Amino acid sequence: MIEDKNPQRTPIEQLGEFGLIDHLTRNFEIGQASTVKAIGDDAAVIHHEKQTVITTDMLVEGVHFDLSYVPLKHLGYKAVMVNLSDVYAMNAVASQVTVSIAVSSRFPVEALDELYDGIQLACKNYQVDLIGGDTTSSNSGLIISITAIGEQKEKEIVYRNGASDGDLLVVSGDIGAAYLGLQILEREKQVFKANPNNQPDIEAYSYLIERQLKPEARKDIPKLLEDLEVKPTSMIDLSDGLSSEIIHLCKNSKVGMKVYEDKIPLDPTVISACEEFNLDSTTVALSGGEDYELLFTVKQEDFPKIKANPSLSIIGHVVPEGEGIHLITRGGEQIAVKAMGWNSFESE
Ligand code: ADP
Ligand code: MG
Repeated sequence: MIEDKNPQRTPIEQLGEFGLIDHLTRNFEIGQASTVKAIGDDAAVIHHEKQTVITTDMLVEGVHFDLSYVPLKHLGYKAVMVNLSDVYAMNAVASQVTVSIAVSSRFPVEALDELYDGIQLACKNYQVDLIGGDTTSSNSGLIISITAIGEQKEKEIVYRNGASDGDLLVVSGDIGAAYLGLQILEREKQVFKANPNNQPDIEAYSYLIERQLKPEARKDIPKLLEDLEVKPTSMIDLSDGLSSEIIHLCKNSKVGMKVYEDKIPLDPTVISACEEFNLDSTTVALSGGEDYELLFTVKQEDFPKIKANPSLSIIGHVVPEGEGIHLITRGGEQIAVKAMGWNSFESE
């Protein structure tokens, strides 16, 4: 079969607003018992037995994503993930999403189909229902705003403010990969601009690129903690980078923290890519962002339940607020952790 070099381009106007909404949402199935009414009325109706958790994130073309290397299907998937990640960071179970989009006429219906394919896959994989949204036009780029809704028993919800002296600091998975994935995609974009015939060689970086383009929210972690009978004292998801999230936990909980450089979990490909890009892997882990792992504190007595788990790394512990927030380097030096950016810490 000859590859279709000129895929169909159906103008949005051809369907009209209501036709477009029907078209985009026609294959979504409702699976949650708490969804009473989904798309199709003035408002959706949900019935939660527990407390309701709600979070919204907006993604703007040119600010949060670059369509020259982000496939629309991945963008749809990731837009759902960043929201679900916030629900899981409350130790809650996600159940519904709403999706609002603003699109310019440069996007054909087929492009939005791809976006919604990604949204649908995310809804299916994570068992959440699409229950509504809004569709409007934009003068230039694409804007996606997603709201995720979840539920949890009052006493199981975990806030940012519950950490106290002596608690252990724990992170799920490994970190820094998503940032490096972005560096590789940016580099390949420049290479492609210079010579469009150059085929990108990205095989070796597939993990890093996947972490950037197709992150998975850690739905499994609240479940794992429940099974281990561990309730975190505070929790946050890693959207902006480890250092700024640690600072958020500390500020909210009015505590300090000691974080050990040699305990920060890094994938081997993160270490090798850092060497190639001449970056310090600890700086990448602290400042990188978009890992969508969960960062939380637990009581010291929970150490035996956590310590051997391959999904969890204990990277530090809570100290009194007056002691500040420090990274303990491999050499035993104490470095103050600052909010963001390169060279984000100075020696004391
Ligand atoms: P209204 O004028 O009452 O706001 P709309 O015409 O905007 O209603 O939307 C009709 C239905 O389609 C509503 O249930 C709304 O939640 C849903 N909807 C609109 N846009 C989207 C979208 N982009 N994705 C999913 N559902 C949508
Ligand atoms: Mg509307």
